[in-house]
Amino acid sequence: MDAFLEKRKKLVNLLRDKGIKNEKVLESIMQVPRHMFVPSFLQYDCYMDKALPIGNGQTISQPYIVALMTELVYIRNNMKILEIGTGSGYQAAVLANLSEVVYTIEKLPTLFSEAKNRLKTLKYDNVLCKLGDGTIGWEKDAPYDGIIVTAGAPYVPEPLFKQLKEDGVLVIPEGESLSFQELNVYKKNKNGTIEKHSYGECAFVPLKGKYGWENGA
Ligand code: SAH
Repeated sequence: MDAFLEKRKKLVNLLRDKGIKNEKVLESIMQVPRHMFVPSFLQYDCYMDKALPIGNGQTISQPYIVALMTELVYIRNNMKILEIGTGSGYQAAVLANLSEVVYTIEKLPTLFSEAKNRLKTLKYDNVLCKLGDGTIGWEKDAPYDGIIVTAGAPYVPEPLFKQLKEDGVLVIPEGESLSFQELNVYKKNKNGTIEKHSYGECAFVPLKGKYGWENGA
């Protein structure tokens, strides 16, 4: 019996109250044991709607932002999704329940191996993990129906636009500040043109790498 079930139910109700409408997204959050994705001393706090530290100066995002970004990127069933910034692996797990396959890239070796092992133990077999710089994407299996960047980018990395399918969406926190960003969604239309929509402010740790902030930032 999952001791955290009640806490998770309350979180899902809170997310619904905060405006998350897609029941499949809420169902996925109901299924993923978030407490397995945080350091053990934070297990009891992890069903609050808050970002939490996961080590190496990084964070697991606030559940509302995970739910909102999932809702924005999940535009159809059986998607092939690329995530930049695996972190704890939680967002990848939430997406895995809704997609055919999730490709996820993490830059920091410790977080990469922890997340990879965790996702394997929890049997998220349709998540493929890679260690490296996600700003250059994952060319080999491109194009993707959806791309989700879960770190704050100064601008959209050009390779990610290229690796997006026509009719696909790219969800990204973007902006010139290192401490907060605008949550933007880019849709690639059939004729190749790009449409942009903004969904307000958010706060992510910086996206580093070739098409991100400088490594030292
Ligand atoms: N999605 C995560 C939270 C992401 S925190 C979760 O559900 O827990 C942002 C992550 O992006 C950090 O782990 C950071 O190391 C990683 N990151 C930053 N720049 C990156 C890059 N260029 N490529 C891959 N990962 C990157």
